[in-house]
Amino acid sequence: STFCRELPKIELHAHLNGSLSMSTMMELQRYLADSGVRDETNVFTDEFVLSAGDTRTMEDCFQVFGIAHALTCTPGALEIATYLTLQEFEADGCCYIELRSTPRDTPHMTKQQYITAILQGIKKFSLQHTMESRLIISVNRNSNKEEAEEIADLTIEFYQKQPELVVGIELSGNPTIGEFQMFVPTLTKARQAGLKVTLHCGEICNPKEILEMINYKPDRIGHAICIHPKYGGTDELWAALCKSSIPVEVCLTSNVNTKSVPSYDSHHFKLLYDANLPVAISTDDKGVFATSLSQEYTLCAETFNLDKAQIAQLALSTCKYVFDTSIREKIQENVIEFTNKNGI
Ligand code: IMP
Repeated sequence: STFCRELPKIELHAHLNGSLSMSTMMELQRYLADSGVRDETNVFTDEFVLSAGDTRTMEDCFQVFGIAHALTCTPGALEIATYLTLQEFEADGCCYIELRSTPRDTPHMTKQQYITAILQGIKKFSLQHTMESRLIISVNRNSNKEEAEEIADLTIEFYQKQPELVVGIELSGNPTIGEFQMFVPTLTKARQAGLKVTLHCGEICNPKEILEMINYKPDRIGHAICIHPKYGGTDELWAALCKSSIPVEVCLTSNVNTKSVPSYDSHHFKLLYDANLPVAISTDDKGVFATSLSQEYTLCAETFNLDKAQIAQLALSTCKYVFDTSIREKIQENVIEFTNKNGI
């Protein structure tokens, strides 16, 4: 709705390579062809979108990221991808974003150059725009210990040089692969250096891992599906989550499209909301799931019958969960100014 588009919103869970729009992908294809990076541009971008009813399995879902990865294989392309994606979030009414991405070595760049290119895109964008952007570095669950350690060390290095841009580290990737415990020492090292931590938690039913994650007390968690007994979790897990008050990054369309929850109506947002637990409405992969942050707010309002005041309150409370605490008040003011102007 117009209200949800105009409402100043805060995006806390957006994977860069899952957020590329079709027009951004076309632009990257042209850019790479012009740069002479020919062999990797031959990707079928129309295979990228996973809508409701798509028959692909969870495993197939993770393969679609390969299309975006082929298009962000050089520092120049990655910088453009970052810039255009930020532009789209701002056009959708976002006033603060924590973008996340997994550093990759490609034939054209190292992990260090990967992070530098994204930061370059963020800096260029910030010169001409008002939306505030920060970076969370992702560790993929399919990494081995050495690679995870390498990424954490880079994250710490960049954080020490640019704490105004690099704010956190997170664990994501195919939830059927890897074990949280293996990543604990690595994540803890980053945490002790001052970085905030968010974990993809409970995308599949794995009570042991979910409990370990909640007990780790991350600053936020993503998804948090299989926690309540109704969603394949247990009373113990649900009690642990309630007691922890860890903010949950909620991604409605992503969960429906990957069939992690059967429908919008039955999404666990309702349980979290009714239990007064902290939530942050987020997009996850706006390109892959053909959504936007304003669409997620609209779906939330329509599905759960929330009025304008309740929706604005969701945006306002999300300001409390941002990793860059120095910007909290400024973005809260954005939301409050909007609600005052609209008589809410
Ligand atoms: P990137 O980190 O910028 O390359 O964004 C794409 C990556 O984000 C994927 O390869 C996954 O590792 C991760 N990702 C995106 N969506 C999800 C999800 O729903 N669950 C877990 N990981 C995800």
